[in-house]
Amino acid sequence: MKGILVIIDGLGDLPVPELDHRTPLEAAHTPVLNVMAARGQYGLIDPIGSGILPNTHSGAGMLLGMLPGQVEGLKRGPVEAAGLGLELAPGDVALRANFATLAAESGGFRVLDRRAGRIREGSDELAAVINRIDPGQDVSVRFWPTEQHRGVLVLSGPGLDARVTDTDPGDHGGGWWMASRPEALAAELTAGLINRFSAEVFQALSVSPVNHQRAQSGQVAANGLLVRGAGHPMVLENQVSLHSLTASVVSGCNTVQGLGRLLGFTVVNDPRFTADLDTDLPAKVSTALRELERSNVVFVHVKAPDLCAHDGDSRGKKNVLESIDRALEPLLQAGVAIAVASDHTTDSNTGRHTPDPVPALLWAPGCAEGEMRDLNFGETACRTGALPRSNSHGFLLSFLKSGNV
Ligand SMILES: [Zn+2]
Repeated sequence: MKGILVIIDGLGDLPVPELDHRTPLEAAHTPVLNVMAARGQYGLIDPIGSGILPNTHSGAGMLLGMLPGQVEGLKRGPVEAAGLGLELAPGDVALRANFATLAAESGGFRVLDRRAGRIREGSDELAAVINRIDPGQDVSVRFWPTEQHRGVLVLSGPGLDARVTDTDPGDHGGGWWMASRPEALAAELTAGLINRFSAEVFQALSVSPVNHQRAQSGQVAANGLLVRGAGHPMVLENQVSLHSLTASVVSGCNTVQGLGRLLGFTVVNDPRFTADLDTDLPAKVSTALRELERSNVVFVHVKAPDLCAHDGDSRGKKNVLESIDRALEPLLQAGVAIAVASDHTTDSNTGRHTPDPVPALLWAPGCAEGEMRDLNFGETACRTGALPRSNSHGFLLSFLKSGNV
């Protein structure tokens, strides 16, 4: 089996007024995806299951072959830590962290921006400030910034328990920092520590030179950390290995790299892969083609469409999908099975993930004959496609089968 599965992050969308009530994918000129869909199979896929709201780690994890029974136990923190290649000790607690813009109000913190304006500079200096904070109780806290506002927080020490709630209200939350609460008696110490630490981070970052400079240049402050997805180190089983196949992951996104490592795949990183709009798409595709020499399956992940949708930029998402389409053209000559799918729908109208199904396609070189039907690959067309509706687990199994050409 040889094949490439392209994960277009946040590919699915809803109709938007500024694109004449089409989705960004429907509005985009995507001749390569249209050909693959028309000559292969296309349809809608429910990433985790019908009506279930995915996030990137659960949605992408399912496409990468994680077993459905492991979805619930998969926490974002250990995934992000694995993305950085961190070796966690058994009792450690890892959390996904966001730089955020907070305002102290009414004895709590109002969240003015969950992503601190997608901070792109100064995060190393802010991290150094955070790492000088001693939370006490013989616990050490280490923070690593990753891309933009994202980072990983690791607590190490005696008596830690990951069964704590998030301080990050999420895009659906009420816009207030939420005190972490224990979900089990044994996690009280950990929740209290996270809350005290968060308050100290706010104090320390508020007076940092980086935020002084940001204020002077009209940027919002990066004066807080929001944490979520607390978890202990874990090992994931996967469908690819269970089929005695090997896989490589080509991605600039720390989350997807972490999933790749937890699943035991080869993770290819390159400074040209940025998990941002400036990522080098042709380099990703050529790297994927090269990886086919050592792996049966190559997963290529592109983050940019999701970022545009989160920012409500439907036109930007449409443009990025057109760039992706152009970059995928060499795959038509690769002589291997190709699949295109997504981890979740991100609605450009609201900037939020939704439980709506995502467009997906399967194509193999044998399909490349015969009459070409006129098709605009997108959410509407996919409603009547021949690809059986399933979750991403079922979709991956179909792809692994289709690759035996
Ligand atoms: Zn995503």
